[in-house]
Amino acid sequence: MKKTFNIMTIACITGLFLASCGNSADNSATQNEHAHHEHAAETSEPTSSTAESTSASTSSNTLVVESNDQMQFNVNELKVKAGEPIHLTLKHVGKMAKEVMGHNLVVLKAGSDVTKFAESAINAKDTDYIPAGGEVIAHTKLIGGGEETSIDFTLTEAGTYDFICSFPGHVGIMKGKIIAE
Ligand code: ZN
Repeated sequence: MKKTFNIMTIACITGLFLASCGNSADNSATQNEHAHHEHAAETSEPTSSTAESTSASTSSNTLVVESNDQMQFNVNELKVKAGEPIHLTLKHVGKMAKEVMGHNLVVLKAGSDVTKFAESAINAKDTDYIPAGGEVIAHTKLIGGGEETSIDFTLTEAGTYDFICSFPGHVGIMKGKIIAE
């Protein structure tokens, strides 16, 4: 019952948004239900790498995640709109080679056993630490310092999804949640 109510609420908000703002697909960085014109000052994300993890406060389906030589992602929570295409860019802002400090970003199905997945990933070096199996919704390729890569995918159902770096030993720190609303 609660779930039905939430879906109705989201559908309602989305409907209002589309009705009042029309086709503004280009403005994906700041899309939310308050996207009126007085909100013109764009909330630009800091692009420098920091040691702190931050949470995204608004839903956006254009995501940029940084990773570094300290084995960190710069975010541990991402909010997206369910059912709409997501464009995710992973940057490695460090200098170390991917053989020693490689990073990827793997999105797992809701309810996946993250620890078990990460363990099986250790033995999947030939496929850049992406093990065979049905847990993966989407993943980037493995990158080293100075590189970046992008993927497109859609989370069709609202829910909370784990994302990790599956390079051996990284999952303990390099993990977070994608909340699809
Ligand atoms: Zn990593």
